[in-house]
Amino acid sequence: MAQPFAQPTAAPAIPDRLPLKAVAPWAVFVGVLMLVLLYFVGAEQGATSVFNGAGVHEWVHDARHLLGFPCH
Ligand SMILES: [Zn+2]
Repeated sequence: MAQPFAQPTAAPAIPDRLPLKAVAPWAVFVGVLMLVLLYFVGAEQGATSVFNGAGVHEWVHDARHLLGFPCH
């Protein structure tokens, strides 16, 4: 019994370089997102906390120690 094979198709064209104007907004967005994440991991505690209580601190506690932030 013959197996059906997919017909070979032309590969999509990949540009040699990504244009900086197309990448820059995404790079800034991801950078800000990472800074917010770094804040919640490293500094979300005490007087600078955004949320009341220690919930965020407890959720990211191991990551805080892994990254070397002072904790307790
Ligand atoms: Zn700790």
